[in-house]
Amino acid sequence: MSSSDQPASPSRTTMIDGMTFEVLIDEQELAARVREIGQQISRDYDGLKPAIVAVLKGSFVFLADLVRSIDIECTVDFLVVSSYGDDTKSSGVVQISSDLTTPVEGRHVILIEDIVDTGLTMSYLLKNLESRSPASVKVCTLLEKPARLKVEVPVHYKGFTIDDHFVVGYGLDYAQTMRNLPFIGYKVG
Ligand code: 5GP
Repeated sequence: MSSSDQPASPSRTTMIDGMTFEVLIDEQELAARVREIGQQISRDYDGLKPAIVAVLKGSFVFLADLVRSIDIECTVDFLVVSSYGDDTKSSGVVQISSDLTTPVEGRHVILIEDIVDTGLTMSYLLKNLESRSPASVKVCTLLEKPARLKVEVPVHYKGFTIDDHFVVGYGLDYAQTMRNLPFIGYKVG
């Protein structure tokens, strides 16, 4: 299993719709790393037909790129989870507002998350999924923010480690906006 850890490149700024963003990870860096993770998953799960379970909403862009880099048979399902409301601080309360449509019993599950921040969401979801008797469960996250980790979470595939910023773009939101930005960054003005 790979959990390779790529530090983000030196920062840059960009203006979008009158707002200034510090770009932490640009489109090319995202595409290259996501492709590598997809290839790694394809090697690790060859012949196992993994059940890919994406945690919405934040992982939807990552998922769409990731699954197109996976060249083995797999299924895709979704869990809709809310832990933040419209704020930038975790409430610590995890709620599944929409559950899987197919059982994962006996399946090799790969849980796809946008970011492991405090780890509370992943820790809750791991326990929840393990109670459904899968053959295995592994975690794949695009980002990890170690500075804020409260609960240790076993991460098997990781895109990037970032510093303690509230980041947006590539699926991640600020009050449901900014998910459409093609890079990962944070607002500076
Ligand atoms: P955790 O439970 O690990 O604290 O947080 C998990 C969820 O909080 C993530 O799936 C994500 O939706 C949200 N979150 C945590 N950090 C950030 C961030 O920097 N930006 C955004 N947009 N969401 C975040």
